[in-house]
Amino acid sequence: MTHDKQIHQLNQLIFSSSTITILTHPNPDGDALGSSLALFHALAFQNKNVKVIIPNSYPAFLKWLPGIDDTIVFDHSPKKAEEQILRSDLIICLDFNTLKRIERIAPIIRSSQAPLALIDHHLEPDSEFQIQISDTNASSTAELVYDVILSLQIMPADLSLIAPCIYVGIMTDTGSFSYSCNHPRPYEITAKLVESGLDVAVVHNLVYDTFSESRLRLLGYLLNRKMKVFPSHQAAFISLSLADQIKYNFQIGDSEGIVNYALSIEGIKLAAFFTEKSDLVRVSLRSKGDLSVNLLARQYFNGGGHKNAAGGNSYTTLKKTELAFVKMLDQIKDEIINAH
Ligand code: 5GP
Ligand code: MN
Repeated sequence: MTHDKQIHQLNQLIFSSSTITILTHPNPDGDALGSSLALFHALAFQNKNVKVIIPNSYPAFLKWLPGIDDTIVFDHSPKKAEEQILRSDLIICLDFNTLKRIERIAPIIRSSQAPLALIDHHLEPDSEFQIQISDTNASSTAELVYDVILSLQIMPADLSLIAPCIYVGIMTDTGSFSYSCNHPRPYEITAKLVESGLDVAVVHNLVYDTFSESRLRLLGYLLNRKMKVFPSHQAAFISLSLADQIKYNFQIGDSEGIVNYALSIEGIKLAAFFTEKSDLVRVSLRSKGDLSVNLLARQYFNGGGHKNAAGGNSYTTLKKTELAFVKMLDQIKDEIINAH
């Protein structure tokens, strides 16, 4: 990896720190939690007093990750999380690129004296992070964390705790090795993990074959009743209302990956998933080829992300969000159709 200066600085900071906080983004996915817990285990092996802080709760399909019970969920224990941050000598942010994404925690971070480091693979990281190990070509933050742990020479001999964490990050952020992985590194790392004893089928089953019945029925309902396809614009969206969430006993993580079904229709290059919240609508965008949803998320939804996977917020009703999206489709129709 080509972040020698940043790695060296991080190494010195870790060496001189006794208390370290690892922080990830809200609604954490497999990469956010996997990369955070992998780094947690490596630093714990170094006898660091280390904690992972998660802004809100995590999905059930990740509850088996080694170390997850040692994390602090900010929404459940805000005082404990604040005390942890304020007593830290170093704060390392994983799998997000701007403190804007952790609105309620950001003021506490800013009031801390500790240096702020970033390990991430999203586009355009904020300058607020003093150390940036940011690589948009990486499949996942987990891939970067593996290489950082290697470079820092803190890779434990026994990988039994770290391996499933790293693998979950790579597997989920590449859609089980179907995108963002057209380079050797994720496969090389996976080979090392398998050599160390990792059973990839077990991890795959834990993540993808543990749906509740209501989660699968919600998927069926959304695809059947709530997906709108615009063939002439090569786009589609799916909406999840608050009423649907109550009806299907919606749990955090239950809508993970549903946006990709809209993108799997032949000829569709742009897909959106809208989740109604009490005060806003969460927007998830996916695209194919050189159509950048990072730019669309920034321009229309106050968000960002990667070229082909991004997200943001819409500060209006679900209905108005859908109408605004359709209007946007008209505005960018040529851009979508000409994308390759
Ligand atoms: P998802 O649609 O799965 O929530 O997010 C897709 C990608 O976009 C993820 O990599 C995520 O980190 C990023 N992303 C999602 N929401 C936001 C947002 O509000 N702001 C920014 N900057 N990135 C986001
Ligand atoms: Mn990621």
